[in-house]
Amino acid sequence: MSPISPLEWPVLRQLRGRDALGRGPAVTSATTRELTSRNARADRVVQSVCPYCAVGCGQRVYVTDERVTQIEGDPDSPISRGRLCPKGSASEQLVNAPGRQTQVLYRAPRSTRWQPLERDTAIDMIARRFVQSRRRTWQDTDEQGRPLRRTMGIASLGGATLDNEENYLIKKLFTAAGAIQIENQARI
Ligand code: SF4
Repeated sequence: MSPISPLEWPVLRQLRGRDALGRGPAVTSATTRELTSRNARADRVVQSVCPYCAVGCGQRVYVTDERVTQIEGDPDSPISRGRLCPKGSASEQLVNAPGRQTQVLYRAPRSTRWQPLERDTAIDMIARRFVQSRRRTWQDTDEQGRPLRRTMGIASLGGATLDNEENYLIKKLFTAAGAIQIENQARI
């Protein structure tokens, strides 16, 4: 480490420079001057919305080498104005956690093991069961002949990671299919 010149003493810098009150550069060390934001090297910043709850706080997502490296509050958001709660502040971990599940898993009836499944196969299985349940539990009229046109065999329970658009489509789909038990954390 090179010796510090006496001219670098903060009080001298205070007297020689324009920071007479010693609240800025006169009392800033070389180490502090070299510090940069951990986001300074990000390739780009993407605006997004926190997926965790119905408040919908705005986020800035920092991307480096096509990987999310940090997520912070978005000051441009009229909802949260740059703030995130502890959960929202930790959402980078949602993306990069090593234990994150990225594959469809299926556990067959009475099996004790999960097995990976192709996504298209899983969607076909869900669609087939959806249609079968609807047919099996369809109620066209009540015992007095009054129209019901509904099924009590299908329900939808949505979580916080669904956004407004997804909830809108789910509500439309399930209502059109005759389901009446449709619920979500955001209570659309
Ligand atoms: S930052 Fe917190 S309050 Fe805001 S949307 Fe996310 S979980 Fe909800």
